[in-house]
Amino acid sequence: MRFPWRLNYDLTKYIIKNNLNKVEKYPLVLMLEPTHLCNLACAGCGRIREYADTITDMMSLEDCLHSVDECPAPVVTITGGEPFLYPHIFELTKGVLDRGRHIMFCSNALLMEKSLEKMEPHPNLTFNLHMDGLEETHDRVLGREGCFRIAMSAIKVAKARGFRVCTNTTIFKDTDLVEMEILFQKLEEMGIDGILVAPGFSYEAIEEEKMFLERLEIEKKFQQVYEMSKKHRFWSTPMYLRFLKGEKKLQCTPWGNPTRNPQGWKAPCYLITDAHYPTFKDMMEKVNWENYGVGKDPRCAQCMMHCGFEPTVVTEVGKSPKDILEMLLWNLS
Ligand code: SF4
Ligand code: SF4
Repeated sequence: MRFPWRLNYDLTKYIIKNNLNKVEKYPLVLMLEPTHLCNLACAGCGRIREYADTITDMMSLEDCLHSVDECPAPVVTITGGEPFLYPHIFELTKGVLDRGRHIMFCSNALLMEKSLEKMEPHPNLTFNLHMDGLEETHDRVLGREGCFRIAMSAIKVAKARGFRVCTNTTIFKDTDLVEMEILFQKLEEMGIDGILVAPGFSYEAIEEEKMFLERLEIEKKFQQVYEMSKKHRFWSTPMYLRFLKGEKKLQCTPWGNPTRNPQGWKAPCYLITDAHYPTFKDMMEKVNWENYGVGKDPRCAQCMMHCGFEPTVVTEVGKSPKDILEMLLWNLS
């Protein structure tokens, strides 16, 4: 099975329960950012720019765990900044796992090898490492020499110790897809469990617009990426990839991946910020969700990001037998 069976089971159970209870809007993945502090300054990173004035702020461990309790999403993505810089990261990971949630632990891998000595593999824990190309490209995007080698070494150590590891690759305007295919092959030879891909999105906080793809360019580039997905162990769903290549129309689900950071619950989504709310309930009730999405807010016009559209896939897939079959075959392949 492509996705861990336990994750499939917990997600399906959660969706069925919400549908039976006629809950219209529910979160799927909590994006938890205990701190925006980072040991890198990647060219395409919106976070460290948007939160430059508060970059040293940190959530307390109690706040982090309270946020997990407030938001019923079965998956918690621990991200940032670089989560290994958060001083309570091991207690936080344990606390989330103890609550029966699944963790996608996003990291740039620089501090991972050493940190693994303090962690144990768990069926609900997956590391999600940032890999933006082969050595020269990856190091250029991350803005520091040596990052690629460190990440490859961390993957080797993590796999040897039995951890589940996937990677995420952002496709920018100048991304060479032949190079990406070589990268994916290399990662698979190392035993990587899954590959996520997404187009880079032009954050409001980044003035350098030239590196990001616009909708038509995304559709063109992802026709090729879709072909690659037939040969490699992609975790990006086939419906999302069909959306990215322009074949499937989807509207975004901004509440699907709610973001909590030291400033509060960031709304309306992971990408754009109109307000921070003190509680999850407040955010869900006070945001006028109808105002957001492609064709509704000009800031959404070029957006095809997984954080807005993968949650739509999850709820959309049950509506057509053809889509259910596609998802089933993909998951079993
Ligand atoms: S590693 Fe992640 S959080 Fe840090 S600068 Fe790069 S993209 Fe931003
Ligand atoms: S379309 Fe993108 S930017 Fe707009 S609300 Fe959805 S996820 Fe956010």
